[in-house]
Amino acid sequence: MAKSTRRPQKIYAIVMWVLSFVFAGFLMALGDLVMRDIPRVDQSISVETFVNAEQIKLLRSKDRDLSRQTTPLQRTIEDAVEEKNSAEANYRGAKSRFDNWIATRTATQSNATNPEVLSRTQELEGLSANVRTAERVVATAQANQRTQNRNASDVRASIKQLRDEAQPAYKRARRKQDLKVFGFRLMLTLPLLLLSAWMLMKKRHSAYWPLYRGFVTFSIYAFFFELAPYVPNYGGYVIVFVGIFTVLVAGYFLIKQMRKYLERKQEEEARSEGDRRKSIDYETALKKIAAKTCPGCDRSIVTRDGVHSDYCVHCGIHLQQECTNCETRNVTFHRFCLCCGTENMELVKPAAPPYTTLA
Ligand SMILES: [Zn+2]
Ligand SMILES: [Zn+2]
Repeated sequence: MAKSTRRPQKIYAIVMWVLSFVFAGFLMALGDLVMRDIPRVDQSISVETFVNAEQIKLLRSKDRDLSRQTTPLQRTIEDAVEEKNSAEANYRGAKSRFDNWIATRTATQSNATNPEVLSRTQELEGLSANVRTAERVVATAQANQRTQNRNASDVRASIKQLRDEAQPAYKRARRKQDLKVFGFRLMLTLPLLLLSAWMLMKKRHSAYWPLYRGFVTFSIYAFFFELAPYVPNYGGYVIVFVGIFTVLVAGYFLIKQMRKYLERKQEEEARSEGDRRKSIDYETALKKIAAKTCPGCDRSIVTRDGVHSDYCVHCGIHLQQECTNCETRNVTFHRFCLCCGTENMELVKPAAPPYTTLA
Protein backbone atom coordinates (compact mmCIF):
# COMPACT_ATOMS: atom_id res chain seq x y z
CA MET A 1 0.00 0.00 0.00
CA ALA A 2 1.42 3.36 -1.01
CA LYS A 3 1.90 6.02 1.64
CA SER A 4 -0.93 8.49 1.26
CA THR A 5 0.47 11.66 2.82
CA ARG A 6 1.36 14.42 0.37
CA ARG A 7 5.10 15.10 0.25
CA PRO A 8 4.88 18.76 1.41
CA GLN A 9 2.78 17.52 4.34
CA LYS A 10 5.67 15.36 5.55
CA ILE A 11 8.09 18.30 5.33
CA TYR A 12 5.48 20.49 6.98
CA ALA A 13 5.18 18.01 9.87
CA ILE A 14 8.98 18.00 10.38
CA VAL A 15 9.15 21.80 10.19
CA MET A 16 6.33 22.02 12.73
CA TRP A 17 8.26 19.76 15.15
CA VAL A 18 11.31 22.00 14.74
CA LEU A 19 9.08 25.02 15.32
CA SER A 20 7.69 23.41 18.49
CA PHE A 21 11.18 22.84 19.88
CA VAL A 22 12.45 26.28 18.92
CA PHE A 23 9.39 27.80 20.60
CA ALA A 24 10.01 25.65 23.69
CA GLY A 25 13.68 26.71 23.66
CA PHE A 26 12.80 30.41 23.68
CA LEU A 27 10.26 29.84 26.45
CA MET A 28 12.95 28.03 28.48
CA ALA A 29 15.34 30.95 27.96
CA LEU A 30 12.59 33.32 29.08
CA GLY A 31 11.93 31.12 32.12
CA ASP A 32 15.62 31.22 33.06
CA LEU A 33 15.65 35.01 32.76
CA VAL A 34 12.57 35.30 34.96
CA MET A 35 14.10 32.96 37.56
CA ARG A 36 17.32 34.97 37.55
CA ASP A 37 15.70 38.38 37.87
CA ILE A 38 13.16 37.54 40.55
CA PRO A 39 14.65 38.22 44.02
CA ARG A 40 15.79 34.90 45.46
CA VAL A 41 14.93 33.50 48.84
CA ASP A 42 17.86 34.16 51.20
CA GLN A 43 20.32 31.28 50.74
CA SER A 44 22.94 32.52 53.18
CA ILE A 45 22.09 30.56 56.35
CA SER A 46 24.65 28.10 57.69
CA VAL A 47 25.32 26.34 61.00
CA GLU A 48 27.38 29.38 62.07
CA THR A 49 24.20 31.48 61.99
CA PHE A 50 22.96 29.52 65.02
CA VAL A 51 26.20 29.44 67.04
CA ASN A 52 26.94 31.98 69.82
CA ALA A 53 29.00 34.41 67.77
CA GLU A 54 31.07 35.80 70.68
CA GLN A 55 31.96 32.34 71.97
CA ILE A 56 33.00 30.95 68.63
CA LYS A 57 34.96 34.09 67.81
CA LEU A 58 36.93 33.76 71.04
CA LEU A 59 37.60 30.06 70.45
CA ARG A 60 38.67 30.69 66.85
CA SER A 61 41.13 33.39 67.92
CA LYS A 62 42.54 31.02 70.59
CA ASP A 63 42.85 28.32 67.95
CA ARG A 64 44.72 30.73 65.66
CA ASP A 65 47.10 31.76 68.46
CA LEU A 66 47.84 28.13 69.29
CA SER A 67 48.37 27.31 65.62
CA ARG A 68 50.81 30.18 65.35
CA GLN A 69 52.89 28.58 68.13
CA THR A 70 53.22 25.26 66.36
CA THR A 71 56.15 26.17 64.10
CA PRO A 72 58.27 28.00 66.71
CA LEU A 73 57.78 25.13 69.17
CA GLN A 74 58.79 22.58 66.56
CA ARG A 75 61.89 24.65 65.73
CA THR A 76 62.85 24.91 69.40
CA ILE A 77 62.69 21.13 69.68
CA GLU A 78 64.79 20.69 66.56
CA ASP A 79 67.42 23.15 67.82
CA ALA A 80 67.52 21.49 71.26
CA VAL A 81 67.90 18.03 69.73
CA GLU A 82 70.75 19.29 67.57
CA GLU A 83 72.41 20.84 70.62
CA LYS A 84 72.04 17.56 72.52
CA ASN A 85 73.49 15.53 69.63
CA SER A 86 76.53 17.76 69.43
CA ALA A 87 77.06 17.59 73.23
CA GLU A 88 76.84 13.80 73.03
CA ALA A 89 79.36 13.71 70.17
CA ASN A 90 81.75 15.95 72.16
CA TYR A 91 81.48 13.71 75.19
CA ARG A 92 81.98 10.50 73.17
CA GLY A 93 85.11 11.96 71.46
CA ALA A 94 86.67 13.10 74.76
CA LYS A 95 85.79 9.77 76.41
CA SER A 96 87.46 7.69 73.73
CA ARG A 97 90.58 9.94 73.79
CA PHE A 98 90.71 9.59 77.61
CA ASP A 99 90.30 5.79 77.48
CA ASN A 100 93.17 5.48 74.95
CA TRP A 101 95.36 7.76 77.03
CA ILE A 102 94.69 5.75 80.21
CA ALA A 103 95.45 2.48 78.41
CA THR A 104 98.93 3.72 77.34
CA ARG A 105 99.91 4.56 80.92
CA THR A 106 101.79 1.87 82.84
CA ALA A 107 100.00 0.01 85.54
CA THR A 108 102.47 1.12 88.18
CA GLN A 109 101.44 4.74 88.02
CA SER A 110 98.60 5.53 90.37
CA ASN A 111 95.64 7.07 88.57
CA ALA A 112 93.91 8.25 91.70
CA THR A 113 96.50 10.77 92.75
CA ASN A 114 97.81 11.88 89.40
CA PRO A 115 96.78 15.55 88.84
CA GLU A 116 96.61 15.13 85.04
CA VAL A 117 94.19 12.21 85.40
CA LEU A 118 92.10 14.26 87.80
CA SER A 119 91.89 17.25 85.48
CA ARG A 120 90.97 15.06 82.50
CA THR A 121 88.29 13.27 84.51
CA GLN A 122 86.80 16.62 85.54
CA GLU A 123 86.78 17.74 81.93
CA LEU A 124 84.86 14.58 81.00
CA GLU A 125 82.35 15.14 83.80
CA GLY A 126 81.82 18.68 82.54
CA LEU A 127 81.02 17.35 79.05
CA SER A 128 78.66 14.74 80.49
CA ALA A 129 76.87 17.50 82.43
CA ASN A 130 76.46 19.41 79.16
CA VAL A 131 74.72 16.35 77.64
CA ARG A 132 72.33 16.14 80.57
CA THR A 133 71.53 19.83 80.37
CA ALA A 134 70.82 19.50 76.62
CA GLU A 135 68.55 16.51 77.31
CA ARG A 136 66.58 18.54 79.83
CA VAL A 137 66.13 21.34 77.31
CA VAL A 138 64.79 18.82 74.77
CA ALA A 139 62.42 17.34 77.34
CA THR A 140 61.11 20.79 78.29
CA ALA A 141 60.54 21.76 74.66
CA GLN A 142 58.70 18.50 74.02
CA ALA A 143 56.55 19.03 77.10
CA ASN A 144 55.68 22.53 75.82
CA GLN A 145 54.65 21.07 72.49
CA ARG A 146 52.46 18.46 74.15
CA THR A 147 50.71 21.13 76.19
CA GLN A 148 50.14 23.22 73.09
CA ASN A 149 48.72 20.21 71.19
CA ARG A 150 46.41 19.40 74.06
CA ASN A 151 45.18 22.97 74.30
CA ALA A 152 44.63 23.15 70.55
CA SER A 153 42.61 19.92 70.50
CA ASP A 154 40.55 21.14 73.49
CA VAL A 155 39.75 24.38 71.64
CA ARG A 156 38.77 22.48 68.50
CA ALA A 157 36.58 20.12 70.51
CA SER A 158 34.81 23.15 72.01
CA ILE A 159 34.25 24.60 68.52
CA LYS A 160 32.84 21.29 67.32
CA GLN A 161 30.57 21.07 70.36
CA LEU A 162 29.23 24.57 69.70
CA ARG A 163 28.52 23.67 66.08
CA ASP A 164 26.91 20.35 67.05
CA GLU A 165 24.63 22.11 69.51
CA ALA A 166 23.56 24.51 66.74
CA GLN A 167 22.67 21.67 64.33
CA PRO A 168 18.99 21.13 65.30
CA ALA A 169 18.17 24.84 65.01
CA TYR A 170 20.05 25.01 61.73
CA LYS A 171 18.21 21.97 60.34
CA ARG A 172 14.83 23.44 61.32
CA ALA A 173 15.69 26.74 59.62
CA ARG A 174 16.99 24.88 56.59
CA ARG A 175 13.77 22.88 56.22
CA LYS A 176 11.73 26.04 56.52
CA GLN A 177 13.84 27.71 53.87
CA ASP A 178 13.67 24.70 51.53
CA LEU A 179 9.89 24.78 51.86
CA LYS A 180 9.88 28.49 51.05
CA VAL A 181 12.04 28.00 47.96
CA PHE A 182 9.83 25.12 46.84
CA GLY A 183 6.65 27.10 47.45
CA PHE A 184 8.00 29.98 45.44
CA ARG A 185 8.93 27.74 42.53
CA LEU A 186 5.63 25.85 42.73
CA MET A 187 3.82 29.20 42.52
CA LEU A 188 5.60 29.88 39.23
CA THR A 189 5.44 26.41 37.67
CA LEU A 190 2.04 25.13 38.79
CA PRO A 191 0.08 27.49 36.46
CA LEU A 192 2.28 26.33 33.57
CA LEU A 193 1.62 22.68 34.40
CA LEU A 194 -2.13 23.21 34.72
CA LEU A 195 -2.20 25.12 31.45
CA SER A 196 -0.24 22.32 29.76
CA ALA A 197 -2.59 19.67 31.14
CA TRP A 198 -5.52 21.65 29.72
CA MET A 199 -3.78 21.96 26.34
CA LEU A 200 -3.03 18.22 26.30
CA MET A 201 -6.67 17.41 27.01
CA LYS A 202 -8.40 20.01 24.87
CA LYS A 203 -6.05 21.25 22.15
CA ARG A 204 -4.47 18.10 20.76
CA HIS A 205 -6.52 18.32 17.58
CA SER A 206 -6.24 22.06 17.18
CA ALA A 207 -4.67 23.46 14.03
CA TYR A 208 -2.29 25.35 16.30
CA TRP A 209 -1.18 22.20 18.17
CA PRO A 210 2.53 22.62 17.18
CA LEU A 211 2.58 25.84 19.20
CA TYR A 212 0.73 24.27 22.14
CA ARG A 213 3.17 21.36 21.89
CA GLY A 214 6.07 23.81 22.27
CA PHE A 215 4.45 25.18 25.40
CA VAL A 216 3.85 21.69 26.80
CA THR A 217 7.53 20.79 26.16
CA PHE A 218 8.56 23.94 28.00
CA SER A 219 6.38 23.15 31.00
CA ILE A 220 7.78 19.59 31.18
CA TYR A 221 11.27 21.13 31.21
CA ALA A 222 10.20 23.58 33.92
CA PHE A 223 8.80 20.71 35.98
CA PHE A 224 11.95 18.57 35.82
CA PHE A 225 14.58 21.30 36.08
CA GLU A 226 12.96 24.19 37.93
CA LEU A 227 10.62 22.37 40.33
CA ALA A 228 11.51 18.70 40.90
CA PRO A 229 15.08 19.34 42.21
CA TYR A 230 13.64 21.66 44.87
CA VAL A 231 11.02 19.29 46.29
CA PRO A 232 11.78 19.10 50.05
CA ASN A 233 12.84 15.62 51.01
CA TYR A 234 11.38 14.91 54.48
CA GLY A 235 13.10 11.54 54.52
CA GLY A 236 11.75 10.50 51.11
CA TYR A 237 8.07 10.92 52.04
CA VAL A 238 7.36 13.73 49.60
CA ILE A 239 8.88 11.93 46.60
CA VAL A 240 6.87 8.78 47.36
CA PHE A 241 3.62 10.71 47.86
CA VAL A 242 4.16 12.73 44.68
CA GLY A 243 4.86 9.46 42.84
CA ILE A 244 1.66 7.83 44.18
CA PHE A 245 -0.41 10.93 43.35
CA THR A 246 1.02 11.15 39.81
CA VAL A 247 0.33 7.46 39.10
CA LEU A 248 -3.25 7.81 40.41
CA VAL A 249 -3.94 10.91 38.31
CA ALA A 250 -2.31 9.42 35.19
CA GLY A 251 -4.18 6.13 35.72
CA TYR A 252 -7.49 7.92 36.21
CA PHE A 253 -7.12 9.93 32.99
CA LEU A 254 -5.89 6.97 30.93
CA ILE A 255 -8.83 4.82 32.07
CA LYS A 256 -11.24 7.69 31.39
CA GLN A 257 -9.78 8.25 27.92
CA MET A 258 -9.96 4.55 27.09
CA ARG A 259 -13.58 4.32 28.20
CA LYS A 260 -14.47 7.37 26.16
CA TYR A 261 -12.74 5.88 23.12
CA LEU A 262 -14.57 2.57 23.49
CA GLU A 263 -17.92 4.35 23.94
CA ARG A 264 -17.22 6.45 20.84
CA LYS A 265 -16.35 3.35 18.80
CA GLN A 266 -19.50 1.56 20.00
CA GLU A 267 -21.60 4.54 18.99
CA GLU A 268 -19.89 4.67 15.61
CA GLU A 269 -20.36 0.96 15.01
CA ALA A 270 -24.07 1.35 15.73
CA ARG A 271 -24.42 3.73 12.75
CA SER A 272 -24.94 2.61 9.13
CA GLU A 273 -21.92 1.33 7.21
CA GLY A 274 -22.01 4.05 4.54
CA ASP A 275 -22.44 6.77 7.08
CA ARG A 276 -19.48 5.55 9.07
CA ARG A 277 -17.27 5.18 6.02
CA LYS A 278 -18.04 8.76 4.94
CA SER A 279 -17.21 10.10 8.39
CA ILE A 280 -13.68 8.70 8.31
CA ASP A 281 -10.99 11.18 7.30
CA TYR A 282 -9.35 10.31 3.96
CA GLU A 283 -5.71 10.49 5.13
CA THR A 284 -6.46 8.63 8.37
CA ALA A 285 -8.25 5.87 6.50
CA LEU A 286 -5.36 5.35 4.08
CA LYS A 287 -2.81 5.36 6.91
CA LYS A 288 -4.78 2.76 8.85
CA ILE A 289 -5.27 0.52 5.83
CA ALA A 290 -1.53 0.75 5.12
CA ALA A 291 -0.98 -0.44 8.69
CA LYS A 292 -3.44 -3.34 8.08
CA THR A 293 -5.87 -1.85 10.59
CA CYS A 294 -9.57 -1.37 10.00
CA PRO A 295 -10.28 2.40 9.69
CA GLY A 296 -13.68 1.79 11.27
CA CYS A 297 -12.96 -0.22 14.43
CA ASP A 298 -9.14 -0.09 14.72
CA ARG A 299 -8.90 -3.90 14.80
CA SER A 300 -6.63 -5.94 12.49
CA ILE A 301 -7.89 -6.51 8.95
CA VAL A 302 -8.32 -10.23 8.22
CA THR A 303 -6.52 -11.43 5.08
CA ARG A 304 -7.55 -14.36 2.87
CA ASP A 305 -4.72 -15.90 0.79
CA GLY A 306 -2.65 -12.79 1.44
CA VAL A 307 -5.43 -10.51 0.17
CA HIS A 308 -7.46 -8.16 2.37
CA SER A 309 -10.99 -9.31 2.96
CA ASP A 310 -13.71 -7.18 1.33
CA TYR A 311 -15.37 -6.41 4.64
CA CYS A 312 -14.03 -5.97 8.15
CA VAL A 313 -15.07 -9.11 10.01
CA HIS A 314 -15.38 -7.15 13.23
CA CYS A 315 -17.42 -4.09 12.30
CA GLY A 316 -18.63 -4.86 8.78
CA ILE A 317 -17.15 -1.78 7.11
CA HIS A 318 -16.62 -2.11 3.34
CA LEU A 319 -12.87 -2.31 2.62
CA GLN A 320 -12.52 -3.48 -1.02
CA GLN A 321 -14.75 -3.43 -4.08
CA GLU A 322 -14.54 -3.93 -7.81
CA CYS A 323 -14.32 -0.97 -10.19
CA THR A 324 -17.66 -0.36 -11.95
CA ASN A 325 -15.76 0.10 -15.23
CA CYS A 326 -12.86 -2.41 -15.32
CA GLU A 327 -13.68 -4.67 -12.38
CA THR A 328 -10.25 -4.24 -10.80
CA ARG A 329 -10.36 -4.61 -7.02
CA ASN A 330 -9.88 -1.27 -5.29
CA VAL A 331 -9.75 -0.11 -1.69
CA THR A 332 -13.11 1.57 -1.11
CA PHE A 333 -11.37 4.59 0.38
CA HIS A 334 -9.36 5.28 -2.80
CA ARG A 335 -10.84 8.06 -4.86
CA PHE A 336 -9.99 6.69 -8.29
CA CYS A 337 -9.57 3.22 -9.75
CA LEU A 338 -5.92 2.23 -9.73
CA CYS A 339 -6.30 0.63 -13.17
CA CYS A 340 -8.61 2.82 -15.28
CA GLY A 341 -8.92 6.00 -13.25
CA THR A 342 -12.70 5.84 -13.02
CA GLU A 343 -13.93 7.87 -10.11
CA ASN A 344 -15.01 5.64 -7.28
CA MET A 345 -18.69 6.48 -6.83
CA GLU A 346 -18.64 5.35 -3.22
CA LEU A 347 -15.78 7.75 -2.69
CA VAL A 348 -15.27 9.09 0.74
CA LYS A 349 -15.09 12.83 0.41
CA PRO A 350 -12.35 14.13 2.68
CA ALA A 351 -13.74 15.88 5.72
CA ALA A 352 -12.71 19.42 6.63
CA PRO A 353 -8.96 19.43 6.08
CA PRO A 354 -6.88 18.87 9.20
CA TYR A 355 -4.10 21.36 9.92
CA THR A 356 -1.52 19.18 8.13
CA THR A 357 -3.33 19.57 4.79
CA LEU A 358 -1.84 22.28 2.62
CA ALA A 359 -4.22 24.27 0.45
ZN1 LIG B 1 -13.65 -2.90 11.48
ZN1 LIG C 1 -11.26 0.69 -13.12
